[in-house]
Amino acid sequence: MRTPVHDHRKLGRELDLFDTDPLIGAGLPYWLPGGAAVRHALEEYIREAERRAGYRHVYSPVLAKRELYEISGHWAHYSEDMFPAMELGGEQFVLRPSLCPHHALIYRSREHSYRELPLKIAELGGMYRSELSGVLGGLTRVRAIQLNDAHIFCTLDQVADEARAALELIDRAYQALGIRAARYRLSLPGPGGKYVSDPAMWQRAGALLTGVLESIGAPYQAEEGEAAFYGPKIDVQIADASGRESTLSTVQVDLHQPRQFDLHYTGSDGAAHRPVMVHRSVIGSVERAVAHLIDTHGGAFPGWLAPVQVVVLPISDAELPYAEALVRRCVGLGLRAELSAPERGSLGARVRAARLVPYQAVVGAKEAADDLVALRLRDGRRIDALPVSEAVARIAALVGRNCVDLWDE
Ligand SMILES: [Zn+2]
Repeated sequence: MRTPVHDHRKLGRELDLFDTDPLIGAGLPYWLPGGAAVRHALEEYIREAERRAGYRHVYSPVLAKRELYEISGHWAHYSEDMFPAMELGGEQFVLRPSLCPHHALIYRSREHSYRELPLKIAELGGMYRSELSGVLGGLTRVRAIQLNDAHIFCTLDQVADEARAALELIDRAYQALGIRAARYRLSLPGPGGKYVSDPAMWQRAGALLTGVLESIGAPYQAEEGEAAFYGPKIDVQIADASGRESTLSTVQVDLHQPRQFDLHYTGSDGAAHRPVMVHRSVIGSVERAVAHLIDTHGGAFPGWLAPVQVVVLPISDAELPYAEALVRRCVGLGLRAELSAPERGSLGARVRAARLVPYQAVVGAKEAADDLVALRLRDGRRIDALPVSEAVARIAALVGRNCVDLWDE
C-alpha cells in the first residue's frame, strides 16, 4: 500500500490548525486554537528537554540596530534575505535574521570564567526573512519564523562533546515526535562571496564536525555551498512524502562571531581566551516542524501533541452530566478534552468525526452507574471498561512521558 501523501497546507486549513489572511500578508500565517495547542505542547517539550540538558533560557528583542548586523557579518553576507532597515529617530533598525548576535551580546554583558563553560543560552524566539512572495506557502516558507535556537559558548576542546550531545537531543526529540531523519549532511562552504574569508578557520571547524560525525558512526554526505556564512554545519535533513528534502535541525561551529564580538572568558591561567560558539537547533523553526508533523502524521499527532487528546462521547443525553464531569476530570489533569454530545449526531458519526483524537471515551448507562469508562484508541484498539480515575491517570502519564504509542499494556 502506498503511504498517503499529506499536504500540510490543505490539512492545516481543514483541521483548523492555521490559516493566512491577505490583509496580514503572504508568508505570515496565524495559528488557530488547535494549531496553537500543538505548537504550545511542542515548545514546552523543547524548553523542558533543554532545561534538563543544562540550557538556560533568555528572551531578546526581535529587532536591533543595523550596526549589530554589520559587526556580526549578516549585513555583508546575508542582507538579501533580510527585511529593509527601518528609520527611527535618525537610527536604522533591522528585523533580526537570526538570534546569534543578541546571544553574543548577552554573553558579553557579564564576565565569564572557564568554570562556567560550556555556557548554554537558549531561546524560542522570533526572526524574519524576506522571502519573495512567489515561494511562500503554508508553514514551510514563511517571513516570520519562531526558531528553537541555542548558542553554546565553550572552549575548542568542548566543541565535539557539545555537538554530540546536541545530536542526541535531536535524536530523542525525533523519537517523541514520531518523525525520522532522512540523513545527515555536512554542510561546507562553496565558491563565491557568501562566506567569511578565512581558510584556516573553515578547515578547523570543518574538521571538528567531521570528527563528530565519524565518532557517532552516522552515515553522512558532505556538500559544498550549504554552510552558514560564519561556519560549517551538520544539518539533519528530513524528507516529505514526495521525497523533497529540507533541513530541520542543525549543529554549527562558529569561530567567526566570537571574534567579531570580541568575546572572552578567563582561563585557569588567569588570562583572557576566546570561546567558540556552537549554534544548534533541535526542531528548527516551529513552523517547519509543525508542517512536517502534519505531513508525517496526516493530522493524527502523537497523543501528547494532539490538539484534542480526549473526546468524551455519551451514548445518550442521560449520560451528559457524567460525560461533562469526565471532561472536567481530564482538564483538571492537564489534558485537552472535549465533549461530543448526542445532539451532534449518532454515536458512529461522532466517532468518525473524532477519528484523529487519540482517546475516545464512550460512556453509556453502565459506565455512568459504575464510574467506568470504555476507551477506543485512534489506532482501532479498544480498552475494556476501566475505573475513570485509572483511565484518566494512565492517559495523563502517557502524555506526560511524550509517548508516541497510545497505550501500554
Ligand atoms: Zn546562531
